[in-house]
Amino acid sequence: MDRIYLDYAATTPLDKEVLEKMLPYFSENFGNADSPHAVGRAAMNAVDDARDRLAAALNAKPSEIYFTSGGTEADNWAIQGGAYAQKELGKTHIILSAIEHHAALASAEKLEREGFSITYLPVNGQGVVEAESLRAALTEKTGLVAVMYANNETGAVQPIKELAELARANGSLFFTDAVQAAPYIPLDVKALGVDTLSLSAHKFYGPKGVGALYVKSGVKMKGYIVGGEQERGLRGGTTNVPAVVGLSAAYLKKEGGMYEANEKIRALRALFLHELSNLDGVTVNGDEKGLPAVLNLRFEGVRNVDLLYNLDLQGICASAGSACASASIKPSRVLLAMGLNEGEVRESVRFSFGKLTTEEEIRWTAKLVKEVVCRLRGQKK
Ligand code: PLP
Repeated sequence: MDRIYLDYAATTPLDKEVLEKMLPYFSENFGNADSPHAVGRAAMNAVDDARDRLAAALNAKPSEIYFTSGGTEADNWAIQGGAYAQKELGKTHIILSAIEHHAALASAEKLEREGFSITYLPVNGQGVVEAESLRAALTEKTGLVAVMYANNETGAVQPIKELAELARANGSLFFTDAVQAAPYIPLDVKALGVDTLSLSAHKFYGPKGVGALYVKSGVKMKGYIVGGEQERGLRGGTTNVPAVVGLSAAYLKKEGGMYEANEKIRALRALFLHELSNLDGVTVNGDEKGLPAVLNLRFEGVRNVDLLYNLDLQGICASAGSACASASIKPSRVLLAMGLNEGEVRESVRFSFGKLTTEEEIRWTAKLVKEVVCRLRGQKK
């Protein structure tokens, strides 16, 4: 084992069968899906097919699915496009959970600079938004509520159905970022009752740089990227045909194997915790009801940067939180929102498991973690 990858929440490897389905659209079927000739039509057929299949899997209509360049763009679009449309109805208040991904938070900060007012919902000690706090924050000016389905740092799963219902009763749009939930939870947009929902293919063994936004029919949304008439005039830009084909194929494949994969991952997580159980001063940040694939652990008295550096030297890849922020030294705002203090946050590490993770890797990682933690604490193992 020269490298053990335990950072599946950051990204996953492209599934080989998915790659096979994408390959023809790089070369022999290279057409521009908007060209009105046979080569273009062949590309458009592939895009239509990808859209139809993804829509069916989400219990949506094909006309409710928009392809994007990834989760970040889908989040930006859902929040900004939704907010601008609501402003025309006189609604300029936005509610977001405090633990949203940077793509959502930065969108809200931009809207705030433009005159929108923003309320951030707190989370409890398990990292979960409570319905009561949303009820208290809603006003007649609230145009949009955004709460992610599962958090990328702790795996905490949010009560989306209940929150969406509250927003709907208030006449506000409800957006959920389902980027982390998608690999592990079956998504049915109708049953969830959401207005918009974002996905990113690279979290479920699809290609990077492609995502999707579901927009319920009838919901008013402003376009996001101006240019051509692609994506029904709301998102300009030549369609990335191989990526869209890959997104849809990866989503369908994960639907097929999800329960089996979840069971396997649940067992690996339990094994990891068991193997670490004779190490003192280890706590789980988050709750048991979260995604089994994400395990956020605090190692008392050990700086996460030191632990991660030492693990990396031994070939183990884990992370201090979201990949986009881990190059910086800022403490995780998700863990701070859960009530950890800065020192505790700096002792926290995220391990995330995936379908290629093995028991052997888990045992070996646990052994090394114990050795490194004890060394850093200056104790004997
Ligand atoms: N939302 C969540 C919850 C994520 O975890 C990520 C990626 O880490 C994103 C959005 C952004 O997705 P992408 O990497 O496709 O831009």
